[in-house]
Amino acid sequence: MSSDKRYAVEKSTEEWRRQLTAEQFHVLREHGTEHAGTSPLNAEHRAGVFRCAGCGQPVFEASTKFESGSGWPSFFKAVDGAVATSEDDSHSMRRTEMHCARCGGHLGHVFPDGPAPTGLRYCTNGVALSFQPAGRGTAPAEPAAPASGPRKRD
Ligand SMILES: [Zn+2]
Repeated sequence: MSSDKRYAVEKSTEEWRRQLTAEQFHVLREHGTEHAGTSPLNAEHRAGVFRCAGCGQPVFEASTKFESGSGWPSFFKAVDGAVATSEDDSHSMRRTEMHCARCGGHLGHVFPDGPAPTGLRYCTNGVALSFQPAGRGTAPAEPAAPASGPRKRD
């Protein structure tokens, strides 16, 4: 892991510790992995966007989420330019590590066994994400009809 990379959002370890929960800090800043099946985002199926819990950048659209059965929120595509990857040889296997391109926060790993059209599985720690449901403004709102019935004149 190269430590000389520069990101648009950079904070000191102390600042990150203040901003993040202990679990978020462990995953985002220490490349931790949450226990499978623990994230409430596994069951999140509403329209919206998943943002990096570190800097707030949108990293995954809800429309790219799929049920992988892994116990971690999984996506087949990242928001363009939002996620960067690096090769990770830890745990004696080669994996593709992914992190937020804006703040460098570790998000999870990318595996080549995802569904079409990308064939990729972005296996993500839910704790590294914050979900924002689609705004009410984007859904077509039906104006309530007035309670008064049609007037008839005979
Ligand atoms: Zn970020």
